[in-house]
Amino acid sequence: MQCMKCGAKAEKGYATSVTDLGSCLLIIRNIPCYKCKECNEVIYTGEVVKRLEQITEQAKQFTQEISIVNYSSAA
Ligand SMILES: [Zn+2]
Repeated sequence: MQCMKCGAKAEKGYATSVTDLGSCLLIIRNIPCYKCKECNEVIYTGEVVKRLEQITEQAKQFTQEISIVNYSSAA
């Protein structure tokens, strides 16, 4: 995988995503991604992006102020 920003090599890793949904803060952990070694750009595959959207939609129904979701265990 190549970094879209700087063209350097991006390696497989895990990322944490923090999204402010207004009513709550959504934290998704252990998201499989590619990370650029040069500029730290995080790249998600299309499949992962879809999954993250699903998790975000579900999280909007939560009433907690802070939701911490583990990517791999999210339904
Ligand atoms: Zn880069």
